[in-house]
Amino acid sequence: MEKVLEVRELKVDLKRDEHRREIEILKGVEFSIGKKESLALVGESGSGKTLTAMAIMRLLPENISVKKGEVLLCGMNILKMSQKELRDVRGLKAGMIFQEPSSYLNPVFTVGNQIYEAIKDTSLSVKEKKKRCIDVLKDVGLTEEIYYRYPHQLSGGQQQRVMIAMALVNNPSLLIADEPTTALDVTTAAGIIELLKVLMERYGLSLLFITHDISLASNFVDKIAVMYAGRIVEIANAKIIMDTPLHPYTEKLIACLPEKYNPGENIKTIEGSVPDFHSPPSGCPFHPRCPYVMNICRKSEPPVIMKDGVIVRCFRYGMPVET
Ligand code: SF4
Repeated sequence: MEKVLEVRELKVDLKRDEHRREIEILKGVEFSIGKKESLALVGESGSGKTLTAMAIMRLLPENISVKKGEVLLCGMNILKMSQKELRDVRGLKAGMIFQEPSSYLNPVFTVGNQIYEAIKDTSLSVKEKKKRCIDVLKDVGLTEEIYYRYPHQLSGGQQQRVMIAMALVNNPSLLIADEPTTALDVTTAAGIIELLKVLMERYGLSLLFITHDISLASNFVDKIAVMYAGRIVEIANAKIIMDTPLHPYTEKLIACLPEKYNPGENIKTIEGSVPDFHSPPSGCPFHPRCPYVMNICRKSEPPVIMKDGVIVRCFRYGMPVET
């Protein structure tokens, strides 16, 4: 399958802590997304999901930098591009939407103005650009009238639809959606997910969907990659991962879903917390929370194992080869 996004061995460092050390916060993230394919990056807050998306779009804050790896978007290495090349690629090849649309819309310009300014095709006339804006507004389920409104005149769901319109106005190959429904009520969130499904088909889009909700993701993406402490610990087809999770962290994430409760049962959580990047545990970063922990887990990092089409990082599925 033709690849739209390939992330290879991506390592990201936080430049300095108070002891002037560099701290590795993404530790060799690897995954790929094919044409018209969707992948969800799933994990608790602090697992590195948003950081991965920011690194892909080269939107990392100044104190965080990519140390190693490649990010190929439609075959072009994003990490090697000049700022000008990057500006062209953002929007044209990949669009991004975020959790809080109100923070990304400019309150002093109309919606139409902001979508119009996002159009990169300089060959279009003013009239053609305006038509493109109105067409894309209709594609995201809004009316022409929204073109003339200011962001504060819209609901949260309408604002998120405007963000999606801006991300799609240049017909990109990839949409990156970072927790796009977290700030919305359940019904509005469901509407946004339905919209994403329709738009993927209509625009031939590939999707990188970032969420803490593995159940939500499994309902509409092709593949799920589970992140923990700056690493991907399991990647598989969404149905396979939900039916037969291999990594103990994935197993716990699924066991804690509300739909898994029996009547009268207490809410389940994963005991402990995501490790602090400043003082990670030795060996497998999940070992302080893992019910299957073995001695080796406290000493060594588990290898990446391929098992029945699933990629998993855990000693339960293979031990290092003795040399
Ligand atoms: Fe648990 Fe060990 Fe697997 Fe880590 S490597 S998830 S501690 S069994």
